[in-house]
Amino acid sequence: MKCAACGGPMIVLELAGIEIDNCPACKGIWLDSGELELLLEETGWEDKVLNSFFPDSGNREKKRRCPICSKKMDKVFYAGESRVLIDKCSNGCGLWFDENELHQVIEASSIDKNNKILVLLRDIFQAKQSPGK
Ligand SMILES: [Zn+2]
Ligand SMILES: [Zn+2]
Repeated sequence: MKCAACGGPMIVLELAGIEIDNCPACKGIWLDSGELELLLEETGWEDKVLNSFFPDSGNREKKRRCPICSKKMDKVFYAGESRVLIDKCSNGCGLWFDENELHQVIEASSIDKNNKILVLLRDIFQAKQSPGK
Protein backbone atom coordinates (compact mmCIF):
# COMPACT_ATOMS: atom_id res chain seq x y z
CA MET A 1 0.00 0.00 0.00
CA LYS A 2 1.22 3.52 -0.74
CA CYS A 3 0.96 6.39 1.69
CA ALA A 4 -1.97 8.73 0.96
CA ALA A 5 0.07 11.75 2.02
CA CYS A 6 3.61 11.29 0.65
CA GLY A 7 3.29 8.27 -1.65
CA GLY A 8 5.93 6.28 0.22
CA PRO A 9 5.59 2.60 1.09
CA MET A 10 3.48 1.79 4.13
CA ILE A 11 4.46 -0.80 6.70
CA VAL A 12 2.16 -2.90 8.87
CA LEU A 13 2.26 -2.33 12.61
CA GLU A 14 0.38 -4.21 15.24
CA LEU A 15 -1.59 -2.17 17.71
CA ALA A 16 -3.47 -4.06 20.42
CA GLY A 17 -3.67 -7.10 18.15
CA ILE A 18 -4.96 -5.13 15.17
CA GLU A 19 -2.85 -4.64 12.08
CA ILE A 20 -2.65 -1.02 11.04
CA ASP A 21 -0.81 0.55 8.10
CA ASN A 22 1.75 3.18 8.95
CA CYS A 23 3.98 5.38 6.83
CA PRO A 24 7.45 5.50 8.40
CA ALA A 25 8.31 8.67 6.46
CA CYS A 26 5.43 10.96 7.39
CA LYS A 27 3.89 8.92 10.24
CA GLY A 28 0.46 8.76 8.64
CA ILE A 29 -1.86 5.93 9.64
CA TRP A 30 -4.44 4.11 7.57
CA LEU A 31 -7.23 2.21 9.31
CA ASP A 32 -9.36 -0.12 7.24
CA SER A 33 -13.07 0.19 7.72
CA GLY A 34 -13.97 -1.38 11.06
CA GLU A 35 -10.48 -1.15 12.57
CA LEU A 36 -11.22 1.96 14.59
CA GLU A 37 -14.22 0.17 16.11
CA LEU A 38 -12.00 -2.79 16.98
CA LEU A 39 -9.34 -0.55 18.53
CA LEU A 40 -11.89 1.21 20.70
CA GLU A 41 -14.10 -1.77 21.46
CA GLU A 42 -12.54 -2.44 24.81
CA THR A 43 -13.10 1.15 25.95
CA GLY A 44 -16.84 0.99 25.29
CA TRP A 45 -16.64 4.31 23.43
CA GLU A 46 -16.52 3.00 19.88
CA ASP A 47 -20.07 4.03 18.93
CA LYS A 48 -19.72 7.47 20.47
CA VAL A 49 -16.43 8.13 18.66
CA LEU A 50 -17.65 6.77 15.33
CA ASN A 51 -20.80 8.86 15.50
CA SER A 52 -18.79 12.02 16.09
CA PHE A 53 -17.29 12.33 12.59
CA PHE A 54 -19.00 14.90 10.36
CA PRO A 55 -18.32 15.99 6.78
CA ASP A 56 -16.36 19.23 6.51
CA SER A 57 -18.08 20.37 3.35
CA GLY A 58 -16.51 23.84 3.08
CA ASN A 59 -12.98 22.54 3.43
CA ARG A 60 -10.55 23.63 0.73
CA GLU A 61 -7.57 21.51 1.65
CA LYS A 62 -6.23 19.41 -1.16
CA LYS A 63 -8.04 16.11 -1.32
CA ARG A 64 -6.05 12.95 -0.91
CA ARG A 65 -6.61 9.70 -2.70
CA CYS A 66 -7.67 6.55 -0.93
CA PRO A 67 -4.73 4.12 -0.75
CA ILE A 68 -7.06 1.24 -1.59
CA CYS A 69 -9.44 2.42 -4.33
CA SER A 70 -7.64 5.66 -5.41
CA LYS A 71 -10.84 7.69 -5.19
CA LYS A 72 -10.52 11.16 -3.67
CA MET A 73 -11.26 11.06 0.02
CA ASP A 74 -13.67 13.30 1.89
CA LYS A 75 -12.55 15.64 4.66
CA VAL A 76 -14.34 14.81 7.86
CA PHE A 77 -13.82 16.25 11.31
CA TYR A 78 -14.06 14.70 14.68
CA ALA A 79 -16.24 16.82 16.94
CA GLY A 80 -14.82 16.13 20.37
CA GLU A 81 -13.23 18.33 23.01
CA SER A 82 -11.15 19.65 20.15
CA ARG A 83 -11.73 19.38 16.43
CA VAL A 84 -9.57 17.00 14.42
CA LEU A 85 -9.71 16.91 10.63
CA ILE A 86 -9.12 13.58 8.94
CA ASP A 87 -9.70 11.97 5.52
CA LYS A 88 -12.33 9.33 4.87
CA CYS A 89 -12.83 7.26 1.74
CA SER A 90 -16.31 7.88 0.37
CA ASN A 91 -16.38 4.28 -0.85
CA GLY A 92 -16.01 3.21 2.76
CA CYS A 93 -12.52 1.67 2.51
CA GLY A 94 -11.34 3.31 5.70
CA LEU A 95 -9.88 6.36 7.42
CA TRP A 96 -6.63 8.26 6.99
CA PHE A 97 -4.91 9.96 9.93
CA ASP A 98 -1.91 12.26 9.54
CA GLU A 99 0.82 12.16 12.17
CA ASN A 100 -0.70 12.27 15.67
CA GLU A 101 -4.28 12.64 14.43
CA LEU A 102 -5.39 9.22 15.65
CA HIS A 103 -3.94 10.10 19.01
CA GLN A 104 -5.69 13.49 18.91
CA VAL A 105 -9.05 11.91 18.09
CA ILE A 106 -8.77 9.57 21.06
CA GLU A 107 -7.59 12.41 23.30
CA ALA A 108 -10.48 14.61 22.17
CA SER A 109 -12.98 11.92 23.12
CA SER A 110 -13.97 11.27 26.69
CA ILE A 111 -11.91 8.10 26.87
CA ASP A 112 -9.65 7.81 29.90
CA LYS A 113 -6.30 9.41 29.06
CA ASN A 114 -4.47 6.37 30.41
CA ASN A 115 -6.41 4.05 28.15
CA LYS A 116 -4.37 1.16 26.79
CA ILE A 117 -4.78 2.27 23.17
CA LEU A 118 -3.51 5.79 23.89
CA VAL A 119 -0.57 4.41 25.84
CA LEU A 120 0.25 2.05 22.96
CA LEU A 121 0.04 4.86 20.41
CA ARG A 122 2.38 6.98 22.48
CA ASP A 123 4.79 4.09 22.87
CA ILE A 124 4.82 3.18 19.20
CA PHE A 125 5.27 6.69 17.87
CA GLN A 126 7.69 7.98 20.47
CA ALA A 127 9.88 4.93 19.98
CA LYS A 128 10.02 5.62 16.26
CA GLN A 129 11.19 9.21 16.47
CA SER A 130 14.56 9.64 14.87
CA PRO A 131 17.49 9.54 17.30
CA GLY A 132 19.70 12.54 17.77
CA LYS A 133 16.96 15.11 18.27
ZN1 LIG B 1 3.79 9.14 4.07
ZN1 LIG C 1 -11.34 3.80 -1.04
